[in-house]
Amino acid sequence: MTDTLERAFSLIDHRDPILTTPADRINFGDGDPAVEHAQESERTLVAAMKDKNCLGLSATQIGVNAQAFAVNVTPAQCVFNPRVVDQSAEGEVLEEACLSFPGLVTKVWRPKAIKVRFQTSDGVVYTEKYAGMTARVFLHETDHLLGRVFFDSVGKMQLTMDVKRSAKRGYPYNVATLWQIAERSRKNRA
Ligand SMILES: [Zn+2]
Repeated sequence: MTDTLERAFSLIDHRDPILTTPADRINFGDGDPAVEHAQESERTLVAAMKDKNCLGLSATQIGVNAQAFAVNVTPAQCVFNPRVVDQSAEGEVLEEACLSFPGLVTKVWRPKAIKVRFQTSDGVVYTEKYAGMTARVFLHETDHLLGRVFFDSVGKMQLTMDVKRSAKRGYPYNVATLWQIAERSRKNRA
């Protein structure tokens, strides 16, 4: 890990390039220091998730370049080095929001069910299946670690309407800025 999470957390600005930069994997093969850092990360991320009262929170959202996110799944509360290994063809479109873009809500297609592989803070590898909202949160957070944002499949007209609605909620955004962020995000889907 190139950085640690022990310091106090605060959400980074939505324009910060870390949100569209793929995060580094955590190499548990390095031994004890990696595990120690991972356990620190878990404590910080889970605490931050609870503090923000959200469904999931990735390390990149608090400015840390590491493949880790907090989420309420079994057997982990914090997931490291996640990979989606399979997903259902069937999906659904639901409104989604993100702590890094407060007030912005848009409709996002996601597969209904996924099979994923990840490590827990002790480095143990798990393969699990999730469905419904858990799958959606897992995918949203995994996207964060791959440098992707949740609105990058939305067309420019839809995004413009979403931004107008967001402004009415008291969260103004610049459409051109969000579009640039979405473009950087789409490059990370290749
Ligand atoms: Zn998010």
